[in-house]
Amino acid sequence: MVLAQLGGSISRALQQMSNATIIDEKVLNECLNEITRALLQADVQFKLVRDMSTNIKKIVNLEDLAAGHNKRRIIQQAVYNELCKILDPGKPAFTLKKGKPSVVMFVGLQGSGKTTTCTKYAYHHQKRGWKPALVCADTFRAGAFDQLKQNATKAKIPFYGSYTESDPVKIAVDGVETFKKENCDLIIVDTSGRHKQEAALFEEMRQVSEAAKPDLVIFVMDSSIGQAAFDQAQAFRQSVAVGAVIITKMDGHAKGGGALSAVAATKSPIIFIGTGEHMDEFEVFDVKPFVSRLLGMGDLSGLVNKIQDVVPMDQQPELLQKLSEGHFTLRIMYEQFQNMLKMGPLGQVFSMLPGFSAEMMPQGREKESQAKFKRYMTMMDSMTDEGNTNPKILTESRIMRIARGSGRLVHEVMEMLEEYKRLAKIFSKMKGLKIPKKGDMSSL
Ligand code: GDP
Repeated sequence: MVLAQLGGSISRALQQMSNATIIDEKVLNECLNEITRALLQADVQFKLVRDMSTNIKKIVNLEDLAAGHNKRRIIQQAVYNELCKILDPGKPAFTLKKGKPSVVMFVGLQGSGKTTTCTKYAYHHQKRGWKPALVCADTFRAGAFDQLKQNATKAKIPFYGSYTESDPVKIAVDGVETFKKENCDLIIVDTSGRHKQEAALFEEMRQVSEAAKPDLVIFVMDSSIGQAAFDQAQAFRQSVAVGAVIITKMDGHAKGGGALSAVAATKSPIIFIGTGEHMDEFEVFDVKPFVSRLLGMGDLSGLVNKIQDVVPMDQQPELLQKLSEGHFTLRIMYEQFQNMLKMGPLGQVFSMLPGFSAEMMPQGREKESQAKFKRYMTMMDSMTDEGNTNPKILTESRIMRIARGSGRLVHEVMEMLEEYKRLAKIFSKMKGLKIPKKGDMSSL
């Protein structure tokens, strides 16, 4: 993902600075120049970048910092804070209540990824115990209903639409009514887009909104327009009460950072980002964990979210409970490898672990990691249950037995155990993590 490159450049700049024997003004300036260059490349507005750099220099007054101060940490914290500031719309995201019927209307230009995102949004919530439904009120684009129908069927989400009705207002109202009767608690209305912002689009949006009375209007936009997102987001906000924004195609465009910061500047909270064409290439967007991940500092709340996506719902509470108690056994590692293999893009998961970045798992190398996971799993298969839950009892002779049993070499078993130790250390950071209660898995 392109953001991984941005994160990589910033982390590298910080790392290079840390490697310097003495952190003086020259070293700090070099570091800030690198960060500035990376942000400008991601199309973040020049003024925002310049202000960020000025603020950091103000906060990190090297002359005033006594020798004992950890300058590296102070600078890293200042970079983190300033990046959060750029991305913070200063307004919390609107939350919906599970169990109570809510109507969410999606608006955006044609091609922005609106229809795809409607299904991703429904799917995300379905995984968290909501009862979503999709209504296709896009009568403008030929094939829109078929597309929604196809996506909805794949995700086993009920849908409503019509091949013959040409009035989007009527479809929206009928669809919402139908699903309210069926006790759906998240009724998603997909509306028409146009190639460009035009009066007809805004008029139709207003009419559908008046009739369907949405609890939340989500504006979907394509990240490739970079900082031009500011004008587009403003125009939609002025026509309809946009409560939240989803930015799509963050996987393919160098201008993602520009789009994120430009939308934040319109004071609209971004709630999700789309990171691919598939249903699960969709991530909750939350400023602090996002920046933390960007800087390679991990994102444990994102990890909890990912667990909710990947781990079957009935196993989630137990796993989260165990992790929050600091238990990470080989059995848990085995089950998680199984889940990860099912899940696909490992890079996304890795980027949420502290000490990793998505860059460390380039797409081409995923196959390699999958093969490694499978190898580890074969070794774990030839371990006794006792060893699986308590790796401390694995003596040298047991390790040799495991190697023989799985047709692997002793050093490979050792490597697997090292991997376990490393992951256990990472997961130990989840100890004490606040885990979402049942029925409270997602408030978005
Ligand atoms: P709509 O006209 O706004 O409803 O747009 P669609 O949902 O039909 O999406 C337009 C194209 O963008 C389709 O080919 C989607 O598969 C693709 N798309 C949507 N979201 C993403 C995303 O996050 N990443 C990538 N790479 N493609 C996306």
